[in-house]
Amino acid sequence: MLVSIVVPIYNEEENIEPLHRALKEVMDAQEYDYEILFIDDGSTDRTPSLLEEIAQKDTKVRVLTFRRNFGKAAAWSAGFDHAKGDVIVTIDADLQNDPKNIPKMVSLIGEYDVVNGWRKKRKDPFIIRRFPSIIANWLISKVTGVKLRDYGSGLKAYKADVVKNIRIYGEMHRFIPVIASWYGVKIKEIETIHHPRLRGKSKYGISRTLIVLLDLITIKFLQSFSTKPLQAFGPVGLLLGATGFLINLYLTILWFSGQSIGHRPLLLLGILLMIIGIQLIGMGLLGEMLVSVYHESQKRPLYVLKDQDNKKEGRG
Ligand code: UDP
Ligand code: MG
Repeated sequence: MLVSIVVPIYNEEENIEPLHRALKEVMDAQEYDYEILFIDDGSTDRTPSLLEEIAQKDTKVRVLTFRRNFGKAAAWSAGFDHAKGDVIVTIDADLQNDPKNIPKMVSLIGEYDVVNGWRKKRKDPFIIRRFPSIIANWLISKVTGVKLRDYGSGLKAYKADVVKNIRIYGEMHRFIPVIASWYGVKIKEIETIHHPRLRGKSKYGISRTLIVLLDLITIKFLQSFSTKPLQAFGPVGLLLGATGFLINLYLTILWFSGQSIGHRPLLLLGILLMIIGIQLIGMGLLGEMLVSVYHESQKRPLYVLKDQDNKKEGRG
């Protein structure tokens, strides 16, 4: 068995060497083979040269270098695309996650397809990080129906084919377990150690919460409507449209039998219902068109690699 460890890195010059040492210490003690993929997400500090140095000395290390900062989700995607392992583990580069948790998580893959690390005693500031995250975790769990306690954890283990088929972008990385669950995978969550960030700066602040909420709407929408929008909008549209039609038919009969109907509120209701009905069905049909465009658009590049064969720019 081969385990691939995927590490997204953005300006972590002080953490790279200790991280590499800590990973090696844990992984060398396991009986299975492993590789480490460092994804340099457009770092502007000494990160690139440090990574190059490590890769030269350690044959288990591979480095992918982005042309610019594409974000953690893109870094993970690149890692997933290039990983050769049967099991893929993601871990943050800042040593807030503890490599010591990796063997337990790897051992659970097989019985489960995804193992999520739960930062039970999370060592981050309360107001700007932990508090928004409590609300976000509760909301994501409610809205998506996937019961996890810590969606944002950087430490996760996957059966390789689960993530090789998922396309993610923006802040979508926290929704990988949710997206994976649509394919019917088995998810387990275990408690993991969390350390305060000792070196370097956190890349995220409070503004991310809003983006996460918007992404949640997208996820919910995709989950409920993306495959069959006409089935979502159609029935309501048909029901309202048909009711409006019957009302207007009734009024038409009255009009032909000589009654005046111009002053009746019912006429307005009938017209309104018919228009709404037609609109909803139209929206469903438009949705069907968007679905096909959406699937096409998934082939767009999510990241561009520096130097390496740029024809492989992450197309699906
Ligand atoms: N990261 C990245 N690209 C970015 C931002 C962050 O690859 O645009 C990496 C970062 O180097 C770290 C991990 O993602 O390894 C988590 O970032 P950070 O520690 O800043 O987030 P936090 O732990 O504060 O949520
Ligand atoms: Mg961190």
